[in-house]
Amino acid sequence: MIIDLSQIPPEGMESTDTFETDIFGLEADTRAKADPKCPCWFETYLRRVEDCLVLRGSIGAGFLLECARCTEIYREAIELQDHTLQIDIEGRASIDLTDYLREDILLALPSYPNCAESTVSEYHCAGDQAIAKAKLDAKKDRSSESKAGNSDSADPKGVWDALDELTE
Ligand SMILES: [Zn+2]
Repeated sequence: MIIDLSQIPPEGMESTDTFETDIFGLEADTRAKADPKCPCWFETYLRRVEDCLVLRGSIGAGFLLECARCTEIYREAIELQDHTLQIDIEGRASIDLTDYLREDILLALPSYPNCAESTVSEYHCAGDQAIAKAKLDAKKDRSSESKAGNSDSADPKGVWDALDELTE
């Protein structure tokens, strides 16, 4: 995605696009691949501030990740919202945003992918059954508590935080 810097007005401009091609180069990676159904996208505002190009907005892409628990390949979308990028453009007429977007999105990939945490689809992680059951039980307890109108009981958040720690 090449931006012609002379096209950016002083007040800045919106820049929204998707990459039709895979920009991530993960073909040889067994644990993460670009999702061909969900290419990299960005919805940003570009502004020149002195010798810098400032990009602000949301960027993201879909991936096929290998779950670290059950080794199942699952779909995930990585989105960085309200993301800011500052690029030195001194003496340049144009800039290719691809490398910058690629790098920031790759850095946001989970270091310990867990299919049960997919934001795209619901997966039932075979390596995660015990924890999933514990979460479900906690949820049941919570809903029966609220049905009984027992809202003064201990904050259930503590239970969830403890379970989240287990998951990690
Ligand atoms: Zn899994």
